[in-house]
Amino acid sequence: MNEEVGPGMREAMEYDVVIVGAGPAGLSAAIRLKQLALQAGETVSVCVLEKGSEVGAHILSGAVVDPVALSELIPDWREKGAPLKTEVREDRFYLLGPSGALRLPNFLMPRLMDNHGKYAISLGNLCRWLASQAEAIGVEIYPGFAASEVLYRDDGSVRGVVAGVAGISKMGEKKPDYQPGMELLGKYVFIAEGARGSLAKAIMEKFGLRAGCCPQKFGIGLKELWEVPPANHRLGQVTHTMGWPLGAKTGGGSFMYHLEDNLVSIGFVVHLNYQNPYLDPYLEFQRFKHHPMIEPVLSGGRRIAYGARAITEGGLQSVPKLAFPGGVLIGCSAGFVNVPRIKGTHNAMKSGMLAAECAFDAIRAGRAGDELSDYVTAVDNSWIYDDLRKVRNVKPLWSKLGLAGGLALGGLDMWVNEIFGISLFGTLRHRRNDAESTRPAAEFKPIDYPKPDGVISFDRLTNLAFSGTNHEEDQPVHLQLKDSSIPIRHTLPVYAEPAQRYCPAGVYEVVDESGGLRFQINAQNCVHCKTCDIKDPPQNINWVVPQGGDGPNYPNM
Ligand SMILES: Cc1cc2nc3c(=O)[nH]c(=O)nc-3n(C[C@H](O)[C@H](O)[C@H](O)COP(=O)(O)OP(=O)(O)OC[C@H]3O[C@@H](n4cnc5c(N)ncnc54)[C@H](O)[C@@H]3O)c2cc1C
Ligand code: SF4
Repeated sequence: MNEEVGPGMREAMEYDVVIVGAGPAGLSAAIRLKQLALQAGETVSVCVLEKGSEVGAHILSGAVVDPVALSELIPDWREKGAPLKTEVREDRFYLLGPSGALRLPNFLMPRLMDNHGKYAISLGNLCRWLASQAEAIGVEIYPGFAASEVLYRDDGSVRGVVAGVAGISKMGEKKPDYQPGMELLGKYVFIAEGARGSLAKAIMEKFGLRAGCCPQKFGIGLKELWEVPPANHRLGQVTHTMGWPLGAKTGGGSFMYHLEDNLVSIGFVVHLNYQNPYLDPYLEFQRFKHHPMIEPVLSGGRRIAYGARAITEGGLQSVPKLAFPGGVLIGCSAGFVNVPRIKGTHNAMKSGMLAAECAFDAIRAGRAGDELSDYVTAVDNSWIYDDLRKVRNVKPLWSKLGLAGGLALGGLDMWVNEIFGISLFGTLRHRRNDAESTRPAAEFKPIDYPKPDGVISFDRLTNLAFSGTNHEEDQPVHLQLKDSSIPIRHTLPVYAEPAQRYCPAGVYEVVDESGGLRFQINAQNCVHCKTCDIKDPPQNINWVVPQGGDGPNYPNM
């Protein structure tokens, strides 16, 4: 930029609480704060910033949701028309081979895995509904407002964020529509950006919040929404699979949820600690849909939407310190997903509610900008902790032992935990982050994936059109390379540049030009899944927010 924009040069707005991210965590926190103020006959000012063009536009989940937190937050959610319409009626779990499937009997599954009584939903639509509930009690929600920078007080505590910077060209020049953004200042700032948030990353580093915990682990979740012929549809049926097409050493699996209106939500999660840099999560998903158990469900239907998003998988061992001076991490910014249940929404919502309760007490006591250590205690004493504690060894066992050993010992451990309240293994640790798990390409052979048929499976760019993603092209690239020479000089020769394969949106290409090889970044394709920020072997890619409103436009993912 030509000119520095310093504090005081932007317009500033002050709130009691500023919340970054209108996902289930951020919206639940906002609602709880206002509820408490209403109950006490007091006022509390709350704003929620959302980088999507509307609430829900960047939300992608499965989702079979446990309504436990929603029932605590809004007990009459049914009467109020919450979009939880499909109760799970049938819960199936399979081990897949290339042409067959072995169903695991439900009685073998630990009780906590049972999905009966849960709801198959669109999380994007639940967030839209939560936003309407929040606005009805006075929460200010600003969609299209990407929070790009953290602001600090002189004493080092977080005092707010900058959001809404726009109109900067690719070269960093101010364009005629330049907007310096606004300073949103709060007594407390809640970081609710979901998995691998860009501000959360900066804050964790600044305050050393990860010092006492294991590295966070992630998966990439790819999802399509299909409308299928009524004859193929089984309302309320929920299916999970493991095994094919992934090999025994690569963790992951699929989900297929039959929602209302003949909709089927189908998705595939690949654990990002995979070793083989030739693996292509997108093409694994595409070939999975041709399995003889899956293809008949989709046949004759049409794919309505496509997208991808990282999911946190580290569990209890990877939860960082949750509070820092001036704010807290809530939801998947902290990483509260219960991996074997593939559920994080209930914990995200509950963590937001607990943070709200602690911040409300602090504000009433005249405090501001200090560390909400009560929130840390509240999470430890809540059912979030119990939910995550019971399953804490499942992911590390899977990482160490692969599919068969991980499934057997992880299942046994969950049963022992359920019956005796203890784990057979103490607490197993995650030793390295997902980028470090990638092995050199020389140790593997390229994988020969079948060509998508254009009916059940699709090439990446055709599918991408169904994410609705869009970015103003003349803006600074939001996928920053710390060193622009590394992809061609190091990541290509050693790892065959896996960004070409792990990115679900075809953002990264190695282009052969007359002057040699060039690493091309098609930033406008990005669906904000954050996988590159997580999996790039030398950790050279830094994902930052683009201009607000840019990115996917998911209808009901
Ligand atoms: C493929 C997949 C399947 C899943 N299946 C299930 C399931 O079946 N059941 C279940 O319970 N859970 C499931 N989960 C997990 C669940 O989706 C998450 O636990 C939950 O969404 C976390 O909520 P959150 O509010 O913390 O974050 P998110 O839902 O990710 O919301 C974060 C919001 O913050 C916004 N944001 C981020 N950064 C900024 C910024 N800097 N400025 C402004 N806005 C910002 C984002 O655009 C987004 O709207 C799944 C996840 C994935 C990826
Ligand atoms: S560029 Fe990164 S964040 Fe964007 S879609 Fe590709 S992997 Fe995901």
